[in-house]
Amino acid sequence: MRAANREIGGVLFGEHVGNADFRIVEATLQERGGSDRKFRRKGGKARRDLKKVSLRYDQNPKKFNYLGEWHSHPNTSVFPSSSDKLTMKELVTDSKTIVNFLVLLINRLNVRGELKIYACAYHFSGQEIPCEIVFEPRGSAS
Ligand SMILES: [Zn+2]
Repeated sequence: MRAANREIGGVLFGEHVGNADFRIVEATLQERGGSDRKFRRKGGKARRDLKKVSLRYDQNPKKFNYLGEWHSHPNTSVFPSSSDKLTMKELVTDSKTIVNFLVLLINRLNVRGELKIYACAYHFSGQEIPCEIVFEPRGSAS
């Protein structure tokens, strides 16, 4: 595996499916910028990736839009570090990012090969709201 024990990540593109429910429709991948304990996304690459994905859904930006960030924690638990929380607070209050909230999703493949996932929404008010993650059966997304 190329990433080995380094953290990798990217941006999440989501579909608003109703009320507070969102479906992740695309997740971009940035393999560089991570160390064994930290992932720093490259702003330029994230913006270019988002632009590319947005073009595929440009007919309906209210339904399909930037949802947040994801990265792996190969060496620690799936819970956000203090620098992860700070990064999310900076992104959600950035005047160039016109959003009410952003989701941070962290995943980890543990030593038994089990996939662990944690997701939290960061509201611009400073509130952190843990998300419920629902896996859809393959092919059920419309
Ligand atoms: Zn992290």
